[in-house]
Amino acid sequence: MMTFGYKRATEQDWQQAEQLLRQSKRILAITHMSPDGDAIGSLLGFTHAMRAIGKTVTPACQDKAQMKFAYLPSFNEIRDKANADYDLIVGIDCSDLQRLGSVYQPQLHKHLPILVFDHHITNTYYGTVNIVIGELASAAEVILQLVQRMKIPLAHDIATSLLTGLVSDTQAFRTTSTTAESMAAAMTLMKAGAPLTEIITKAVVTQPFDNIRVLGEGIRNTKMDDGLAYSTISRKLRNELGIKDDRGDGGLVTALINTYEAKVAAVFTENPEGKIEVSMRGRPGYDVSQVALEFGGGGHAPAAGCTLPGPMRDAVNRVVSRLRQVIIEA
Ligand code: 5GP
Ligand code: MN
Repeated sequence: MMTFGYKRATEQDWQQAEQLLRQSKRILAITHMSPDGDAIGSLLGFTHAMRAIGKTVTPACQDKAQMKFAYLPSFNEIRDKANADYDLIVGIDCSDLQRLGSVYQPQLHKHLPILVFDHHITNTYYGTVNIVIGELASAAEVILQLVQRMKIPLAHDIATSLLTGLVSDTQAFRTTSTTAESMAAAMTLMKAGAPLTEIITKAVVTQPFDNIRVLGEGIRNTKMDDGLAYSTISRKLRNELGIKDDRGDGGLVTALINTYEAKVAAVFTENPEGKIEVSMRGRPGYDVSQVALEFGGGGHAPAAGCTLPGPMRDAVNRVVSRLRQVIIEA
């Protein structure tokens, strides 16, 4: 089995992380490409927290975040490029260096220390210091621990950002990753002023009509047999539907894994660059994180992903045969 050997952050790791932050003045904070709500929420939560203790922080992401997160304070300050004018790089919710995307430019940034805050058990420990806590449902909870350790007052903007991350990665407390600790974190954030039901509505429940059009076509294309449900969303399909939003599966993989018949689900989405983004889900007992890792991606046992070269047919063949094996071997 391919694994980088997950090891929960120790007290010593935390002390080194705090030291790196305290001695830095200008921080480039980067979250993963194709960002989701936890990526954006933990990125902005971290940004507000560090600004509160006087740091200059640039929040950055290669790809534009979905507009549904525009309610987050400083959403418009997220950059897709960065110069070399920093003394620390912070990677957030991002399990490997490649996934920091084009914001991280080795020729400009290679000499800088990297501090990682993440919750993926597939993390490659690419940082100088790595705070990885795979038991947590969201990277936002890792950032909350940082805020509490550094005794930074939990201001409204920090709390709203972090609760958005927690709500997004747990799909409003419905995933198996949701624990009593997640609920306690949510309560702490609510008490600090984060509006829970408004966040659930905006981040999880409501969506553009185009999303459900993608979802509808994706469901029509779904193959379901022997516990494996999978479907594709091609550029051609998006063009035919006249859909402007050019990323994401419209919630398709979640819909598929929530059927009684599915043990494992996968959705293959062709991105604007012609690569195939694979979203995988497994019911308890079916670990898809190792499959993602084998294909150069990562994630968690029940939810993982990878990005493969096209064409679509090749990506589907490679991943589907591997996922059938997961079902047989379980
Ligand atoms: P989703 O299917 O919702 O995009 O992602 C599920 C999980 O897998 C998330 O934790 C996400 O960060 C991770 N993931 C998805 N795609 C990739 C990828 O291409 N590379 C890596 N390293 N992780 C991925
Ligand atoms: Mn996350």
